Amino acid sequence: MIQETAKIPQATAKRLPLYYRFIQNLHSSGKQRVSSKELSEAVKVDSATIRRDFSYFGALGKKGYGYNVNYLLTFFRKTLDQDETTKVGLIGVGNLGTAFLHYNFLKNNNTKIEVAFDVSPEKIGSDISDVPIYHMDDIEEKLKELNIEVVILTVPAHVAQTITDRLIDADVKGILNFTPARLNVPPAIRIHHIDLAVELQSLVYFLKNYPQDTEMS
Ligand code: ATP
Repeated sequence: MIQETAKIPQATAKRLPLYYRFIQNLHSSGKQRVSSKELSEAVKVDSATIRRDFSYFGALGKKGYGYNVNYLLTFFRKTLDQDETTKVGLIGVGNLGTAFLHYNFLKNNNTKIEVAFDVSPEKIGSDISDVPIYHMDDIEEKLKELNIEVVILTVPAHVAQTITDRLIDADVKGILNFTPARLNVPPAIRIHHIDLAVELQSLVYFLKNYPQDTEMS
């Protein structure tokens, strides 16, 4: 997880994984430095924002030289805790949940779905991509046993809040919520909300209404 949140503003922290992935690619292709313009084109964030973000990382870009790729890679690894894999639980093995179980997060990220939960008798007891699916009755016990504090929520919206209340009791600290439900949680719990239908609608809206403005995000 991000360690230096006290110093790095949240908007910048959210872009860290994006920067990290690109810097990793540069590093594997043998590049030693990168300019804010190159970064900007690759990650689609304007270069003024990149320069401001990178100043929080202690990375000082030099004119005509750019940023040192090795320095950035070390910084992102340390800050995002990439030396250690974060175990994640998934709740709701429907279409979306199943797709996440098939997706190899480890390829680009040091996160791994270790365990999944559902209420459907056909799914419980089976596994998908070597991830076992357990009954919801076992969730508190399993999450504690495996020391899992981060979960992905891909259940129907009407059960999302009840499940969230149980997750809080099970000491979960972060929830990636793919349901359209707006969830109530205590301030200590972090929720990131991804509503794919809304994102798609927003994309279509921007294409229609701001066709020239490619910098919008
Ligand atoms: P998706 O929305 O991912 O496309 P879907 O349309 O296949 O999924 P949904 O009805 O949205 O199915 O349910 C998603 C999954 O959540 C299903 O596998 C369902 O069995 C599971 N589910 C439903 N209620 C609960 C619950 N209370 N706790 C855990 N899992 C649940």
